[in-house]
Amino acid sequence: MSSSAEKALNKIYYLRFSENIRKMKKIEMVDLRSQYERLRADIDSAVAGVISSTAFIRGPEVRLFEEELQRYLGIRNVISCGNGTDALQIAMMALGLRPGDEVITTDFTFIATVEVIELLGLKTVLVEPDNGTFNISIEAIRKAITPKTRAIVPVHLFGQCADMEPILELARENNLFIIEDVAQATGAVYRFSDGTEKKAGTMGTIGCTSFFPSKNLGCYGDGGALFTDNDELAALIRSITNHGMKVRYYHDTIGVNSRLDTIQAAILRVKLRHLDEFNKSRMMAAGHYDHELSGLPGITTPVRSSFSTHIFHQYTLRIDGGERNSLRECLENEGIPSMIYYPVPLHIQKAYLHLGYGPDEFPVTNRLSGEVLSLPMHTELDEEQLSYITGCIRSKFN
Ligand SMILES: *Cc1c(COP(=O)(O)O)cnc(C)c1O
Repeated sequence: MSSSAEKALNKIYYLRFSENIRKMKKIEMVDLRSQYERLRADIDSAVAGVISSTAFIRGPEVRLFEEELQRYLGIRNVISCGNGTDALQIAMMALGLRPGDEVITTDFTFIATVEVIELLGLKTVLVEPDNGTFNISIEAIRKAITPKTRAIVPVHLFGQCADMEPILELARENNLFIIEDVAQATGAVYRFSDGTEKKAGTMGTIGCTSFFPSKNLGCYGDGGALFTDNDELAALIRSITNHGMKVRYYHDTIGVNSRLDTIQAAILRVKLRHLDEFNKSRMMAAGHYDHELSGLPGITTPVRSSFSTHIFHQYTLRIDGGERNSLRECLENEGIPSMIYYPVPLHIQKAYLHLGYGPDEFPVTNRLSGEVLSLPMHTELDEEQLSYITGCIRSKFN
C-alpha cells in the first residue's frame, strides 16, 4: 500500500476511533458515580434519614450495620471505627502488643499495615510475598519467626485471601496472634483443605477492614471495622475505639477516638446488600480480561489460588521485559487509566529505611514493583469498555 493510502486509512481508523470514544462511557479506574446513580434512591433516603434524626455520632444505623455485617461474615462481633488504618492500630493495642514485640507482615502492601506497627513502637519484620499470588509467603513467615514474634499480619491483597490454613498452623505452633488485613478483600471466601469455607477476616484473632470509597465495600468517606469471635476482646476493642471507656467518663485503658459516622453506616447498610453482586461484577470483568489477555507474550494475568475466591479489588497484570511503563503510557494516550500498586516496596521507602533492610533484600517485591500494572476495575465496567481496553493492550502485544 502506498504511504498516502496508508495515511488516509489511518485517518479513517482514527476518526472511527474518536467517534467511539465519544459514544463510549468514559473509562474510570473506579467509577463511583455510575454506581451511585444506580443506588441513588436508596442512598439518598438513607442519608436524609440520618440527617433528619440528627443522630450523627453512634446513631442506631451504626449498630444495625455492625449486626448486618456480622451476619454476612458469620462472625460474633463487628466493631466499627474511623478507618482501616485505625482498625489495624486498635487491633494491636487490644492484643496488648508492647514495644520490642515483633510483628511479621508482607513487604508488598499498602503502607498502613506497617505504619501502625511502627507508631506503636513494635518491631516490623518484613517478609517476601509469594511470586504468583502476590500474597505473603508462608515459607518466608516460617523463617522470620523468632522468640520475640507476637503476631502475623497477612494482607489479603487485591481481593484474594492469603493462604490462611498454614498461617493458622504456624500461629498455633508458635502461640502467635493473627491480624488479618481485609481492607482489599471484604467478601472473599477461603476454602480449607477439609472443604470448610470462611470469609476473609474471620479466621485470625482479629480481622481489620476499611470502607474507603474505592474498596469492595466502600462508603462515601472514611470508615473501618474490626471483626472477632472473641467476646471479651470485642468489648475491649469497643472501649478502645471510644477513648478507653465502657462507662462514660471512666477510662479503663488508653483509647483513641475512632468512630464510624452514622451517615456512613447508613450508606454501608445499603451497599452491603449489594456486596456479593458487586463482587460478582468485578469477577466478570476479570473474566473478560483473563480471556482476552492470557497467553499474550510478556503478559501474566492474575494467578488465582485453589484455596480462595478472588473478588478483584484490583486486576493486576505483570508485564515482562521492561514494557510496563510504555504500556501504561500507551493506555493513557487512548484514554485508559491504569495504576501501579505498588511502585516502591516498603523496605526501601524513605520513612522505613531505619528498619535496616538492604535494597536488594527482597528480590520478589523489587521485581513486582517494576512489573505490576492494575487495570480499571469496578462494578460498572461494560462489555464495550472492556473490549476497548483489551483491544488496546492486544494491539500492543500481539
Ligand atoms: C486501604 C487499605 C488500608 C487502610 O485503610 P484506610 O481506611 O484508608 O485507613 C490498610 N491496608 C490495606 C491493604 C489497604 O488497602
